[in-house]
Amino acid sequence: MTHSDSRQLFTMTAGVGVLASAAALWFERTDFDPLDLVMLPGIAALWLALIFGVYRGWVRLNVAQIVLFAVYAVYFLLALNQQFRVFAPVHHMLSQNTYWFAPLYAAAFLYFRPQRAFRFSLSIFGLSMLITASHLAGNPALRQDATLLASTLQFVMVSLTMIFMQFVMGRRHLLMMAKQLAAYQDALTGTANRRAGEEHLLTLQQRGQDFTVALFDLDHFKNINDRHGHAAGDAVLRSVVQEAQRVMPDGTMCARWGGEEFLLILPALPGPDILRVLEHFRERLPSLKVGEVSGVTASFGVAQRLPGESSDELLRRADVALYEAKALGRNCIQHSAHQLTAAQP
Ligand code: GH3
Ligand code: MG
Ligand code: MG
Repeated sequence: MTHSDSRQLFTMTAGVGVLASAAALWFERTDFDPLDLVMLPGIAALWLALIFGVYRGWVRLNVAQIVLFAVYAVYFLLALNQQFRVFAPVHHMLSQNTYWFAPLYAAAFLYFRPQRAFRFSLSIFGLSMLITASHLAGNPALRQDATLLASTLQFVMVSLTMIFMQFVMGRRHLLMMAKQLAAYQDALTGTANRRAGEEHLLTLQQRGQDFTVALFDLDHFKNINDRHGHAAGDAVLRSVVQEAQRVMPDGTMCARWGGEEFLLILPALPGPDILRVLEHFRERLPSLKVGEVSGVTASFGVAQRLPGESSDELLRRADVALYEAKALGRNCIQHSAHQLTAAQP
């Protein structure tokens, strides 16, 4: 989930929180519970203040989430305690207030990672059990009330079921996200894979955006493998990717195109700037030290997207330029027949 998605979710929950507070107060209007009278308007005000703070950038979203979660948890626990003193002895059951523990556990898994949500939920559950046990232990009338005990048991079972199910679902969700991420990641270097690169090109093309591609291929890489072993070759590939990520401008994607060939997709920058940054990268490569290996070089084929040009055609031009760079003796940058313009818009 992106930050703006999370913020939107938080705002939506805020709406529900404020409405729920108002509705609860309205239902109680003939007989206000003193705890609710303080907590409900207080929580609604806190929601609004935190939303304001988050949108103004004064409060970090995760801090706001933790604060609200803690406030709700304290409120529900106080209400549970109150119930055992006031409501349960008269009505022989727990009140509808206890329903709210379920959304609280759901919120934990919505806002926090499964391990943390599980810890928070279990702590709240533990405290709710402590409150329950202390009342049952201290009041024989409650202890002997079979209807109340049945109601309490339901509360315990629902809480545990909610926590367990949310935990399993949260874990499953994380696993799915990891798989989705892996589908776009090169396993060896951790950079984008060819599929990610192709989709990125398609997106840029659909947006009609200007960009430049640079296809580069390590020179005589087979010799590195032959001399130093495949593992050393792998380490070189990782190190080259790290260097590319370090020196390339923000917004550049470095995708492993295959074997020891990579595609850099560079954002719209003036042509000379792109050539300068690529030249800097090319010059840096021989000084990379990877175990015993150094002196790595690469050949580059660069092509700037022409208006209306398809990615296939653009890549074909970059490939031709790379081929020329190899033919010219390697360790150099060739740009496609169409010159890089002095300034891209
Ligand atoms: P050129 O300068 O013409 O590109 O020569 P080259 O030796 O780099 O090119 P060639 O295509 O002959 O060899 C590429 C080598 O890259 C052969 C292959 O074993 C190696 N290679 C491809 N993928 C990997 C990898 O993931 N790890 C390692 N260690 N080597 C790889
Ligand atoms: Mg090569
Ligand atoms: Mg190659």
